[in-house]
Amino acid sequence: MEKSDGKTGTVSRRTFLKGVTGAGLTGAVAALTGCKSTGKPAGGTGWTPQQYNVPENWPVQVRGRVPIDTENPSIVRDDKKCILCGQCIEACSKVQSVQGYYELPIKDDITCVNCGQCSLWCPTAAISERDDVDKVIAALKDKNLHVIVQTAPATRVAVGEEFGMPPGSIIEGKMVAALKKMGFDGVFDTNFTADLTIMEEGTELVTRVKNALAGGHGGGEGGHHAPMALPQFTSCSPGWVKFCEYFYPDLLDHMSTCKSPQQMLGALAKTYYAKKKRIDPVKIVSVSIMPCTAKKFEAARPEMNSAGIKNGNAKMIDVDYALTTRELAKMMKIFQIDLTALKDQRYDNIMGEGTGAAVIFGTTGGVMEAAIRSGYFLLTGQNPPELLFNLEPVRGLQGVKKAALNVPGVGELRVAISHGLGNARVLLDQLRDDKKNHREPRFHFIEFMSCPGGCIGGGGQPRTALPPSDAVRQARLDSLYTMDAKIYKKRLSHENKEVQQIYTEFLGKPNSKLAHELLHTKYTDRGSHLTAKKKA
Ligand code: SF4
Ligand code: SF4
Repeated sequence: MEKSDGKTGTVSRRTFLKGVTGAGLTGAVAALTGCKSTGKPAGGTGWTPQQYNVPENWPVQVRGRVPIDTENPSIVRDDKKCILCGQCIEACSKVQSVQGYYELPIKDDITCVNCGQCSLWCPTAAISERDDVDKVIAALKDKNLHVIVQTAPATRVAVGEEFGMPPGSIIEGKMVAALKKMGFDGVFDTNFTADLTIMEEGTELVTRVKNALAGGHGGGEGGHHAPMALPQFTSCSPGWVKFCEYFYPDLLDHMSTCKSPQQMLGALAKTYYAKKKRIDPVKIVSVSIMPCTAKKFEAARPEMNSAGIKNGNAKMIDVDYALTTRELAKMMKIFQIDLTALKDQRYDNIMGEGTGAAVIFGTTGGVMEAAIRSGYFLLTGQNPPELLFNLEPVRGLQGVKKAALNVPGVGELRVAISHGLGNARVLLDQLRDDKKNHREPRFHFIEFMSCPGGCIGGGGQPRTALPPSDAVRQARLDSLYTMDAKIYKKRLSHENKEVQQIYTEFLGKPNSKLAHELLHTKYTDRGSHLTAKKKA
């Protein structure tokens, strides 16, 4: 990535600790504890209370740390492990442009977009996700409950790292088998709702573009209350959405109203699936496995209860527990599952089919490429040409990417992609400036992802390199593109049979009234929670 961290190269966790403490790790530990070295390596389990409770022996480069609210739904810090090295500030400030980008004192809550990048940069794992594993295991043990799970695209090329496999190992079938072995009653694929997102978000984009071509008077399939601003922003990365709510609330009418694939599947599990399987939705516990800590925040947003509203119980939320990839690995270890020994299994039907277009949602540029493939179909009625199945300009780890393509009957469609929130500011500041000066929008559609590399580099993914490296991200994203091109049978979201079925049997058509009730959402202006710095 261009502007991710300003660091070069990758170091192991042990080498990093060596640099921070200014001494060989084993020697430093001996000095801090006042014990003789046993000669055994001491890294890997964090620092002990005895080590950090001796102030004169603290690491030489004490630089502070990010503030974390005790109520933060996504991340927690174990103070016993914190060595005040300041690496979390590097991630939060330099990569994500959150810490240091607002004036002190804080007005309301501690500003955090829940991305979890700090947890990937923390050398002692003092910062980690809020652990919900015990709650999920308790639900699995309760025979009165029907516990379903969905797995996000990026988890299937990363969870193997927790079991000694190289970054990017494709582990989809074994992951499904492990979840079934743990006792989940339904194992579904978030790829299903990624394809559904393309239908909903693509239809929304077509409405906005047609409206712009017609002179911008509103109306169209989305109804006259639908937002019409261009460019349309993607909305599936909850860290990005919250960032926009905090720092660019004036641009929220550009945000697609589509919920993320996680939330769409949650809402459908307690309505469509419950109805088809004749299960009382009250008994359904909906779990997601995500590469992302912000998904815990997203699941807890008060408006994410549309299935509950539909079922006459507003307290029922769409997704009960969002676990990270790391928590999934922890669960597998608790269940003593040898992932490598499992035979591949398939996702369950009704919400288990996904296409290659969906699996590349897991990488930067993937949502855009998937949307362009089906957007072309929605605009022209024809499947896209071969070129659009390998859209190089939107691929790769550059911080900001741009592309333009000619769509017959429509004209030039201009798109942009950014990942890592520091990079998002480039496009957002430019748009603000264009609007202020009444210039035409440079783009029709922009994909924003909170984390460097997109979901494959999410804050809930395995800690494989320190700081998180482009080499690891590249290995994971290469595997997703391999799955799209060589493993999945279909590469177009609109060809997903289960997606076609849900429109026929339940939703009607994309952007229908029911689709809006269950699959779309609204946003919160959080600008009043902080005073953004003019120039950080
Ligand atoms: S990165 Fe981890 S160890 Fe370092 S200051 Fe932050 S919380 Fe503490
Ligand atoms: S989760 Fe993200 S926004 Fe929150 S403190 Fe960590 S890096 Fe900063």
